[in-house]
Amino acid sequence: MSNSDQRVARLRGARPAEEPGARGIERVARNPDCLRLRAVTIAGLTPATAAQILGFPDREGQSPFALTLGQRFERQLLENGAANLFTLYRERGLLGPSEAKIVAVDGLAPGTDLRARRRRETETRRLLEGKFRGDPLAPNLIIKPRLLVSLVGLPHPIEPDFLIAADQEPFYRVGELKSYPDRGGKTDAADIRSACRQAAVGVVGLREALQSFGARQPEQLAVADADLVMRVTGFFIPTLSRMAIASEVDSVERAIAEAPTNLDDLETMLPAGATLDDPAVLASVPNNYRPSCKEHCGLWEHCRRQALAGRHPVVLGDLAAEQLSAAGSIDRALELMAGSGLPPLNAAEATLAAELRTADQALRRAVGHV
Ligand code: SF4
Repeated sequence: MSNSDQRVARLRGARPAEEPGARGIERVARNPDCLRLRAVTIAGLTPATAAQILGFPDREGQSPFALTLGQRFERQLLENGAANLFTLYRERGLLGPSEAKIVAVDGLAPGTDLRARRRRETETRRLLEGKFRGDPLAPNLIIKPRLLVSLVGLPHPIEPDFLIAADQEPFYRVGELKSYPDRGGKTDAADIRSACRQAAVGVVGLREALQSFGARQPEQLAVADADLVMRVTGFFIPTLSRMAIASEVDSVERAIAEAPTNLDDLETMLPAGATLDDPAVLASVPNNYRPSCKEHCGLWEHCRRQALAGRHPVVLGDLAAEQLSAAGSIDRALELMAGSGLPPLNAAEATLAAELRTADQALRRAVGHV
């Protein structure tokens, strides 16, 4: 175990390591100012496990129905050497009849133990490097590659569903298989956003690999596009959409670049010897609760409860959080509006007090309470 691995294991405490995967890194990008989520992810815990440490139930899992549907869809596309996935690309004219070089990384190193996982990383790297160096035998489809994305300087493995490149293309793009019904412009936007964010983490992983091969401009080879394979409503017939995901890739890259950028920074932000399996430590790590946390983070109930206890304006919504930020709490905002308590402590509070009083008077006039 490397020194970094030991330090991460120490941070995690007695809990076994969990791989956050693309979903975990994508979560960090959704709330990059949240140190609690970042710390948990770096330590190799999922938010669902962290919620359990804090005594909250795990509400993160997919419904069994959605899970089964997703597994069946994936199996159907990937069985027989990913024949159906290849046919989809052939029918769309994105791969030619002879571009049927397909490698399933799972098959090169089956198993779930550490050795097998490491081997899949090495095999993926070998395949990617072959394409980068222009090997004509490089695969056109790589199924379940295992890429690495650095967070605080530590490699975190991710497994996109597949990578795709025609022979004449210089490098791969990321593909995700999602059993969502494809309703064209009416497909659930949240589903599409979430799939695009996961694919964006894959693009970042490809760029990191390219950098390690010595590529000068990795972003020109691993382009910010993703292929989403969904299904026709009511059937298992796949559809294919090529999406531009530049903003998603930017947000993942920005989140990775935010402090803490290395393990030292993170350790100095926590009390000496603190472990995240200790509920008191976990609850004391600064967070950044937003109403949207519920969509992606298993810790939202705990964080919302803390925000409520602190009478933080964010519990009234994002707009209130922004407009009442000078007051810092709902109680202080009420004091400023009523002119009770301490007088405004600075110019920002004075402006807010005047705005709140004007709004209060307008409301009273409107409801006839002047
Ligand atoms: S729920 Fe809590 S830990 Fe999760 S992102 Fe929001 S504030 Fe951070």
